[in-house]
Amino acid sequence: MARMLRRNLLSGLVTAGALPALPRTQRQSPAAAGGVVLERPASGQPHKGKVLLALQAHSDDIALEASGTVAKLIAEGYTGYLVRATNDDMGDAPGLGTAGTIGENVLGNERDNAHIAEILGCQRHFDLNYSNHRMADVSLNELICRLIFLIRLVKADTVVCWDPWAHDEENPDHYTLARAVEAACWMAGRAHDYPEHFAAGLEPKTVQDKYYFARRPEITRVVDITSQIDKKVEVNRANVAKGPGGHLGSRLRIELAQRHQRLPLLGDDEATADRNYIKEFVLVGSRELGRQYGVEYAEAFHYIAPGASGADRDPRVDTYVKEHAVPL
Ligand SMILES: [Zn+2]
Repeated sequence: MARMLRRNLLSGLVTAGALPALPRTQRQSPAAAGGVVLERPASGQPHKGKVLLALQAHSDDIALEASGTVAKLIAEGYTGYLVRATNDDMGDAPGLGTAGTIGENVLGNERDNAHIAEILGCQRHFDLNYSNHRMADVSLNELICRLIFLIRLVKADTVVCWDPWAHDEENPDHYTLARAVEAACWMAGRAHDYPEHFAAGLEPKTVQDKYYFARRPEITRVVDITSQIDKKVEVNRANVAKGPGGHLGSRLRIELAQRHQRLPLLGDDEATADRNYIKEFVLVGSRELGRQYGVEYAEAFHYIAPGASGADRDPRVDTYVKEHAVPL
């Protein structure tokens, strides 16, 4: 709980202090004040044919930080894949999730993560199975190589992940994965990196754009997730072993009943208690951010646009050639 509240409090303070809401008329395009774009729901499936790779260190990362956006992008046509880097064997802080031994944590989170991928509508998921809190030990090049393989395998166009450039990040799994993703997105498109992949039938694939989330985000894009809020609630309800949602609502309902008390918020059955608890307490950050941008619920990202980070030939060269080339 402490971690959840801290995370939401931080995100609320930062967004409230540094990024004033934009006037309604400016929300669809980059605004002068901070360059923040409000990404609204698209009609139809404009992303059909594109592939989204959502990467998390732990089973609750995407659920808490970006599940509304992942669900939105999949609803708008993306084929989604979910990657979990660790095996979540360290469980979580007292009061969060379901207490268990190290082995029980592994199994519980493995099952939760598979369920989360299903709720999000992902095509499939991959568990890299590194030890929880120990990713600072992992060879960065090994991790980059595994991610390059996955990017080429699923032909990822877009990634959602922790921000490699964020401040106030204390979890080594988060920043190690983020650094590896940043490198892999670029290297996966290079023809000389890991050429054995091509012998196995893969092809180079450069990731086009990136949605990075963080505890203290440098916000360049706010995504309106109001239409996906029920899915975000369900994803957090599925996060039983680790998350601050899971079954905490129904547990609180039982605890109160033992003291001959009840909260109207928690309703008359376990599922309602869990859902309403999540909506009220776990999603408070999404709600507060949304309010600042004139929508009900939102998620914040440091968004890297297509072409913004590539090291390939400057497209202005091609434009210049087209305009100025003459016959020999
Ligand atoms: Zn995490």
